[in-house]
Amino acid sequence: MEEKSTNFIEDIVETDLKAGKHTIIATRFPPEPNGYLHIGHAKSICLNFGLALKYGGKTNLRFDDTNPVTEETEYVENIKNDVRWLGFEWAEELYASDYFSQLYEFAMKLINKGLAYVDDSTSEEMAAQKGTPTVPGTNNPYRSRSIEENRKLFIEMKEGKYPDGSKVLRAKIDMGHVNMLLRDPVIYRIKHAHHHRTGDTWCVYPMYDFAHGQSDSIEKITHSICTLEFVPHRELYDWFIEKLEIFPSKQYEFARLNMSYTLMSKRKLLQLVNEKYVSGWDDPRMPTLSGARRRGYTAKAFRDFCDKIGVAKRDNLIDLSLLEFCVREHLNKIAERRMVVFDPLKIVITNYPEGKTEMLPSENNTEAENAGVREVPFGCELFIERDDFMENPPKKYFRLSPGGMVRLKSAFIIKCEEAIKDANGNIVELRCTYIPESRSGHDTSGVHVKGVIHWVSAAHAVNIEVRQYERLFNTEDMNAIEDDFKNHLNPHSLAVLNNVYAEPALINAKFGEHFQFLRMGYFCLDPDSSDTKLIFNRTVTLRDSK
Ligand code: ATP
Ligand code: MG
Repeated sequence: MEEKSTNFIEDIVETDLKAGKHTIIATRFPPEPNGYLHIGHAKSICLNFGLALKYGGKTNLRFDDTNPVTEETEYVENIKNDVRWLGFEWAEELYASDYFSQLYEFAMKLINKGLAYVDDSTSEEMAAQKGTPTVPGTNNPYRSRSIEENRKLFIEMKEGKYPDGSKVLRAKIDMGHVNMLLRDPVIYRIKHAHHHRTGDTWCVYPMYDFAHGQSDSIEKITHSICTLEFVPHRELYDWFIEKLEIFPSKQYEFARLNMSYTLMSKRKLLQLVNEKYVSGWDDPRMPTLSGARRRGYTAKAFRDFCDKIGVAKRDNLIDLSLLEFCVREHLNKIAERRMVVFDPLKIVITNYPEGKTEMLPSENNTEAENAGVREVPFGCELFIERDDFMENPPKKYFRLSPGGMVRLKSAFIIKCEEAIKDANGNIVELRCTYIPESRSGHDTSGVHVKGVIHWVSAAHAVNIEVRQYERLFNTEDMNAIEDDFKNHLNPHSLAVLNNVYAEPALINAKFGEHFQFLRMGYFCLDPDSSDTKLIFNRTVTLRDSK
């Protein structure tokens, strides 16, 4: 068996376990409930849950809900749904807001140790005092407030005595620190805002840096994995844990997942939803997990994809086609085959009895065991794809042409006898004959043809709608753009086809089922479907066209 190599985070975990630093590991996935999860989050989920599964341990789902104004309960429910859909179960469902009392006590502890102070400066003053990367910052008079005074003021802040923005609590570290984040970072701010879980209990809220590491520590997270932009925060993460003398969680950083032709920022995706560039967070073109699911991407394809890309230490751009490859690979194994004609050309089989229907068995999926067969109705009037016929074909053309022969999938060999045209010279119908002895599986005709095409019986065909998607953006590296990201939207990202005819078996399609429409791609039923109209999304084409 092929030995799978480990990624650098697994190496760290293995080293820690070997050294006896931990006997059991704990990770967490910490989404901020301010939007729907996207493919980048899938990477983080697979990594965090994957580590605990591989090495024995647990993963918490922690909602990072310290910012009262952007968070909503709708997002919480969708995030839970998406994590489960990906195939993971968390040990505990937790909320950073559950720790507000404890975080407040932590802040008090810093005050009592002389390591935090209340600052009345305006944000402009604070920015001016901060210095620059090359010029150290300056201490302001508030920095020397007594412990007693700081305690009193912080309690009053909490009690609602002061308006928003009038005071903040800052850690007292070093205004000349080389890492600017350690120049007395703000750790609490006043915000008279309603919180989705704690209501109006609080009007002071901790900043990210004073909530994340502390929450990790409270939950005894051993490996707190985040993306590279938090590298400079690590020093602060460690400083708080050390000064608070709490469980020593450790932060590790990996490169965030960026994909070509894709945007992964909840803030920008929200804009697309609000400004109606897409039909919603679950629009099949969106890079959200709910959009991908609706489009027909499978959880297994996401897990395989995350496995394949590994865990990078440096930012890079992953080709969207790699994810599509994983989707195809999975769907090829599980999708039942159906025949659907997208651009119908009618053919009449002149030597087949009018009014007769015969049911022909066709394999559902030869790539899967026990996928069985279905019966496809055959009659004298059929639809084939318009571009499976050529009036003046080139030499090695193996589909239908005047006088030429082709096999109808799971059915008979037919010969085109005549192309009927309308007054404008457009071909409107083909008159064909079939070879009765050539039935698939029972072919005694001795006739050999190279081409096989799909078809549907005109009398039994079901008219469906098909939605074909292309990439949402035209620009390969959406992180490199400087203008408005909406300038880069692909105007042709959605094509709706309505003149599409399917074999009748598709009437029984259910949500969550995947189909391969022979020669056309992979498809699934869209929830916009009704009893009178079936709508299918194209998940992905059969091959990478690039
Ligand atoms: P966004 O920029 O889309 O809002 P975020 O990082 O603010 O993303 P969070 O909800 O804070 O979103 O993220 C939850 C977890 O998912 C974090 O640990 C974060 O590092 C991780 N994550 C978010 N985006 C990516 C990505 N593109 N690749 C890998 N991990 C990601
Ligand atoms: Mg965030």
